[in-house]
Amino acid sequence: MTSRAPAKAWLIDIEGVLVRDKAYVPLPGAVETLARLDAAGIPFCLVSNNTTHSPDGLVADLNGAGFSLTLDRLVGAVELGATWLRQRGRTRVLWLGAPRMADHWRGQGFELTDGTDCEAVMLGANPELSVDDLDQALPALLDRGADLVCLHRNLFYLDAAGHRRLGPGAWAAALEALQGAGQVVTIGKPSPGIYEQALKRVGVDARDALFISDDPVADLVTAGHLGMTTAFVLSGKYSDHGVLGRMTEDDWPAIVCAGLSDLADETLS
Ligand SMILES: [Mg+2]
Repeated sequence: MTSRAPAKAWLIDIEGVLVRDKAYVPLPGAVETLARLDAAGIPFCLVSNNTTHSPDGLVADLNGAGFSLTLDRLVGAVELGATWLRQRGRTRVLWLGAPRMADHWRGQGFELTDGTDCEAVMLGANPELSVDDLDQALPALLDRGADLVCLHRNLFYLDAAGHRRLGPGAWAAALEALQGAGQVVTIGKPSPGIYEQALKRVGVDARDALFISDDPVADLVTAGHLGMTTAFVLSGKYSDHGVLGRMTEDDWPAIVCAGLSDLADETLS
């Protein structure tokens, strides 16, 4: 640990930090740590690239697992993706993410359609995605100038069985390489917009915020560039710090620790 002023707010990734994977079982001490933050008067919010749950559903699942959260604690790629589409005037969407989210998008006023009719192709985590599904994006991107909306670009994630699965970042790289005429946008981490929304939510400047994640590449590099203190926890995607060897030293996190509760023990005492 380096010596620095205690953070005035914590920005917290969900999967790998509060819960290990998509089974949504709390990691040891995670529930208690959020209660400690509340007791200490330290604002926090969850900054999530989750695309398999609606915001309401995500908070409900976390609360069902033992947390005590309200919707205003969540800044997520799903809500910001809807905002981006509305601002861009896109209502007809080819949704290539998790099928269980279809009703959510319709409820938000979007028409889910195919690649011959859509204005935007949207990617989220989808363990059922097939090559046939991806082929639907070809007329949209090559012929229609549809936008490519990547709710995030994580290259892999851990499914409910804890297995690594290729994520939207892999499909985004393939579809982006088609060089269609529409915009290509990344909504969630590592795009700066979601970090800026989270800072607004907790009401502190970047230099006063601590960002905690199990993914130093996809989540913490941007946080560090924005001026936040960064903490890499070994409770999710990586069980050791070997991944840092693939990063430039300037981008290394300020703190490496076993998990959220250890971080709390070291910084809140
Ligand atoms: Mg994570």
